Amino acid sequence: MNRILVTEKIATEGLDVLRQAGTVDVRLDLDKPTLLSLIGEYDALVVRSATKVTAEVIAAGERLRVIGRAGTGVDNIDVEAATRRGIIVVNAPASNNVAVAELTIGLLLCLARRIPQAHASVQSGRWARNDFIGWEVRGKTLGLVGLGRIGSEVARRARAMEMEVIAYDPVVSFDRAEQLGVTLVTLDELVQRSDVVSLHVPLIESTRNLFDRERIMQMKRGSYLINASRGGIVDEAALVEALDSGHLAGAALDVYAQEPPPADSPLIGHPKVITVPHIGASTKEAQLSAGTEMAAGVVTALTGGTPRYAVNAPFVAPEAWNVLQPYLNLGRLLGTLVMHLVKEPVRSYDLELGGELAEMDTQPVRLAVLQGLLAASSIERITPVNAPIIARERGLRMTERVSPEAENYAGLITLHVQTSERTRTFSGTVLRGEPHIVQMDGYFVDFVPQGSLLITYHHDQPGMIGKVGQLLGAADVNISGMYVGRRAPREQAVMVLTLDEPAPPQVMEQVAAIPGIDAAYSVTF
Ligand code: NAD
Repeated sequence: MNRILVTEKIATEGLDVLRQAGTVDVRLDLDKPTLLSLIGEYDALVVRSATKVTAEVIAAGERLRVIGRAGTGVDNIDVEAATRRGIIVVNAPASNNVAVAELTIGLLLCLARRIPQAHASVQSGRWARNDFIGWEVRGKTLGLVGLGRIGSEVARRARAMEMEVIAYDPVVSFDRAEQLGVTLVTLDELVQRSDVVSLHVPLIESTRNLFDRERIMQMKRGSYLINASRGGIVDEAALVEALDSGHLAGAALDVYAQEPPPADSPLIGHPKVITVPHIGASTKEAQLSAGTEMAAGVVTALTGGTPRYAVNAPFVAPEAWNVLQPYLNLGRLLGTLVMHLVKEPVRSYDLELGGELAEMDTQPVRLAVLQGLLAASSIERITPVNAPIIARERGLRMTERVSPEAENYAGLITLHVQTSERTRTFSGTVLRGEPHIVQMDGYFVDFVPQGSLLITYHHDQPGMIGKVGQLLGAADVNISGMYVGRRAPREQAVMVLTLDEPAPPQVMEQVAAIPGIDAAYSVTF
């Protein structure tokens, strides 16, 4: 049974999700020595931003497999130390996308209609209708700097308001932009064309002061700037100058270089500035989903899968996730199956990814296959995070190729195993979201690799299935399904029995001793 330690307050819905994977202990009062003394008993640690998950804590966490952070930033976690130990760090980066995007749209409409100023005017007893002639956002050009998670959500909403949306993001593909109805442009073109520029980039070295004096002066005269990303991306002094000179018509700010901004900041109280106190992510829904999204990742990691948002595992683009996710599961299971069936020395593995997989970033699938291959033969804990390091240490060689061909399947993962004597081939596909093994050593089969299996390679002859069934029955092992693959009647064949419980070792010995059976394997997933 997994044990999960929660050291900070998260939504109760998040705790409910965590309970699917084990027992949950909420301890909000832990000092460092107590955390160090307790952590060795836990498989998962869940924190927000206050608990310092140092290399020391990670080293003491002998059973730790996953660290969950209910939120985005992971500055309080030594991710490198976790990676070296194969511990997956999951967070909840998507939980506040919509909250920040909706605030951005709110700020945009406030700039267009000067709602805060109009509100203040009425509150002060005036009724100055002619002072508040605004402009419509429809037909205006919105320039998004950064088209990541939040930028994309802003784009969708702006498109719904009939804005023209252009974006600068050096990483995002044209296809992705096209899906969102956004035109990708250079940063120079973006600032020159946009009626409103909205920033959605992280604060990193290359974006610090990205909107400096020169860049702000490149913006269209009379245009607007919105920043709900991070302070430090905009040079605040240059912004004030541009507003005062009339070069910019207005700005809306959720974030500042220093928070709260100094009382004498010229931006505070500026008539052209609309501002709120860094409330982008402050919605009930965002806080709830920070807990549940992170918890879902912790549960996936504890059950051996690849979590959607893992800080130290390969990133899967949102548009690819739904397609790729079941293949990650399949890849891991196929690797595990192959490790159980191939007993002769292996020279190399050749992974072939066909059909719809050929159009995607296949690195996560490759890591999932490696994870499956290594996990079945390792006392170490293998995750997609440390699988490449361990494969390298063991000299496991795996080439990879992609091909548009996938026989009649939408997508196909095939693992060719070059042993000292021959090449053995195993394939799987995804049907209705479920992994199916469809080919083993040239025999066509179709079964879901889960629970316990008994697999035989044998000579096809009458009575074979009955003999195996009898031995299992005598040992009180129930058969839930059976699949036979053969090339021709009364020749070599494989049989796959799915069992409600694993076949005990002595039964496996008896099965292997049946005349005509070449090999028998018990595989438990
Ligand atoms: P994300 O990582 O999903 O997207 C960021 C995008 O910026 C990526 O697509 C990346 O390619 C792009 N990018 C990086 N450098 C760039 C550059 N120099 N020029 C153009 N594009 C560049 O991040 P996200 O979740 O969308 O977050 C965006 C910003 O919003 C971050 O700064 C984050 O800290 C901030 N944020 C603010 C609040 C708030 O309360 N206001 C809440 C959450 C996040």
